[in-house]
This record gives sequence, C-alpha cells and structure tokens, in this order.
Amino acid sequence: MTQMSSPFSKSVSFGEFFNPNPIMAQNNFSTHHGMVDILPEEAAKWQYLESLIRDVARSFHFEEIRTPILEQTELIARGIGALTDIVSKEMFAFSRGEDNYVLRPEGTAPVARAYIQHSLQQRGGTQNLFYIGPMFRAERPQKGRQRQFHQFGAEVLGSADPLADAEIIAFMMEVYKRIGVKNMVLKLNSVGDPESRAAYKTALQDYFRPFLSQLSEISQARFDKNPMRILDSKEPEDQHIKANAPKITDYLNEDCSNHFEKVKSHLDRLGITYILDPFLVRGLDYYTKTAFELTSSDLGGQDALGGGGRYDLLIEELGGKATPAVGFASGMERLLIVCEELGIELAKPKSVDVYIVTRGEVAQAWAMENIRTIRETGLSATMDLSGKSMKAQMKDADRKGARFAIIVGEDELQQGLVNFRVMADSTEESISFTDALAKLNT
Ligand code: AMP
Repeated sequence: MTQMSSPFSKSVSFGEFFNPNPIMAQNNFSTHHGMVDILPEEAAKWQYLESLIRDVARSFHFEEIRTPILEQTELIARGIGALTDIVSKEMFAFSRGEDNYVLRPEGTAPVARAYIQHSLQQRGGTQNLFYIGPMFRAERPQKGRQRQFHQFGAEVLGSADPLADAEIIAFMMEVYKRIGVKNMVLKLNSVGDPESRAAYKTALQDYFRPFLSQLSEISQARFDKNPMRILDSKEPEDQHIKANAPKITDYLNEDCSNHFEKVKSHLDRLGITYILDPFLVRGLDYYTKTAFELTSSDLGGQDALGGGGRYDLLIEELGGKATPAVGFASGMERLLIVCEELGIELAKPKSVDVYIVTRGEVAQAWAMENIRTIRETGLSATMDLSGKSMKAQMKDADRKGARFAIIVGEDELQQGLVNFRVMADSTEESISFTDALAKLNT
C-alpha cells in the first residue's frame, strides 16, 4: 500500500536524511513528476475560475468546507474501496510514529469523515457543502492527468431524495455553463443498491465466464470480486466482449428503478440533457444508485471533466449513522484545458492602478510611507523595491500596466508637489499629493 519511500517511514534525523556533504549536494531542484507549479499568468486564470465556482456555490447556497490534505490511510482505503486503482496502486502514503497518513486522493471520504466527526447533521436540514483543493494520486502523468491535481466538488449529505441528485448535477452543469464550455456529454446511469447489484453481479459473471481467458489481465483479476469494474475497463481486448454484457438497469429493484426515473424526470424539467450509459460504473466503490460523468470531446484521452453519484452507504461504512448522500467532483486542470481548446479567455493577471516612481532615498522613504494612503482608498499600488533608475522604474510601470504614475524626487517633495502622470496619454502635471489622491479616485 505504501507508495512513497519516505524520510518519515522510520525515525530518522534531519541530518541522516538530508545529505550534509556539500560536494554531493543537489543543485537542480524541480517539481516531482506529475506535479506542476502554477505561475502568475496561470494563477490569474485559477483565481477567476475559483471565484466563479464560489459564485455558483453562493447562488445555490452551498457552504464551503475545508478538510486537511492528509487523512488517515484507513479512512481512504475503507471509504474508496481496497480493490480500486486509487487505493491499490495510487496512494501517496507514509507512516510517522504510530500514525498512517495519506495525501487525500479525493474529497468525498474526507467530507464524510468531517460530517461524522463534527455531527454536522445537528446543524439541521441537509448539509450542502462544496470544496476546492488539491488531490493526489500516483498515476502515470499525461495531458490532463497529474499526480497533484485540483478538484472542485459539492455534496448534499442527509437526503435520499432524487431532488438532491438533480441539485448536485445542476450545480456541476451551472459551473460549465457560466464559463461557456460547450461540446459536453453528461452520461447517466444507476449502479443500484447492494440487492440489485448482487443479482447483476451473478448475471455479469455468467456472461463473462466463457470469455474469461480472452479478457485483459486486470479484468480477469476483477472477475471474482468486482466484475462491475470490468465494464470500466479501457483495455482494447475487453471492449468487444463487454459490448454485449447485461445492463444493470435491467436488474434494478423497484426502489432503485423509481429513484432513477425521478432523477431523469427532474433533469428533463431542468433542461439538462444527458445520455444513458448502462456501463458507467465509475472508479470508486462507494457509489449507489445514481452515477454520472461529464465528458468533453475537447479533452483527448482523459476525457472526463467531472463525475459523481450517490453514496448512501459511505457514512455508515465509515462509522457514522446511516446517511444518504450525493455529490460530484470535477477537475480544475481539465477545465482549464477545455477553456484553452475552446479559446475561452479567462482572466489575465491584473494590472496595477498606481506606480510610484522615486528619485533618491528621501523620495523612496516618502513613497514607502504614503503608498499606504493610496492602498487604503482601495486602489492597488506598487513601487520599486530594488533601487532601480527612474528610467527603469518607468519601464517597470509600463510592464505592470500601471494606469497612473506618481513621480517624486526630493526637490518636488520640499515644495509639497508630486508629478502625476496618466500613463495612457502620457500627460503629466505637478500637483499636491492630496490633489493626486483626489484625481486617482475620480
Ligand atoms: P474521479 O473522482 O476520479 O472521478 O475524478 C473526478 C474528476 O477529477 C475527473 O473527472 C477529472 O476531471 C479529475 N481528475 C481525476 N484524477 C485526475 C488526475 N490524476 N489529474 C487531473 N485530473 C484528475
């Protein structure tokens, strides 16, 4: 289970782990494979998307929850399922002392844990929660697939009603709608409950048994314990075999079938289009009844933008009182890829309102003190922090897209004046700082 050989997996001192020999010291550090820096130009787009997601959350009245990046390994193993790829192959896990830590691979099990730990049901009503944050899976990196990636997601905890399923799907779709993403397909299925699944599992095994030796190795391994996951297979040799497999929707009991019909009719009422995909099982074990996935043809190989479903058994599985719930999670990186492909322009880094250009130390000290006054009016303001020449400072002001420059030297200051420059038309006038402030705010 442990993926990472860690300095903390046994008790080692700092000196033992970090090579103290300067001749051997490493000098070219970079991010780990599959983990990327988000540099300022990109960060501006992230801020834009995050604030749009928060706006959607506000309009749906979902409250934010922030859980730790590290969780107990047992929580994730039990919550997601020991046989899933995530738990069996992709965990960044380590131990320290008696405790087993894992970098969270997804957000639902941690939210469920928090719900139980803090008895959130006592707040009354359903708990409608959302989150945005980094997740970690030791997958083979490729476009749209990283080892540290980010998800936004939402959960409704405490409702068994198909209304909650529809609300969760509506929340997810609203994010993409507001951004302007097109060419998406919402796939919908029901994966039933344990009763329906027991009947289906037998039917699937009966169907796959004659083909067992032709199935991929990974599907053969899933045949006994988890034959539904064979439907999830991307292995080429499995595709024609699974094409004629029995469909779960023919094995749903009355409760699951009614639930599914109601979810569909709510989505129809909301004008949310979907296709039924009877082989959609999703990679996590905790789903019951509704399962959905949103894909985009603009993504390439990793075509899932997001997905989710109902997980009525998870909270009980994790030691809480039986609590029906439904949620979704979407990838931020894949959303950014789709925006790029579609030419959807997200935010550019913000330019600065005011740049104070200084000549000499007295002016620098004045600027350091008075820049605060500009900032207090709500405008953004910056100044040179490295002792550059005035020419270089003017260039920097241009580069930062400053709307105004306030140019000061000791002589002007003695006369109580500053040079106020409107960058767009290069007009400049000598006025008092108070007048400059008034102009900035008109
Ligand atoms: P999952 O919970 O595995 O269905 O993931 C939900 C969404 O998170 C996916 O549809 C992707 O958009 C995104 N996602 C999952 N794994 C990764 C990854 N390794 N790298 C980037 N995005 C991911």
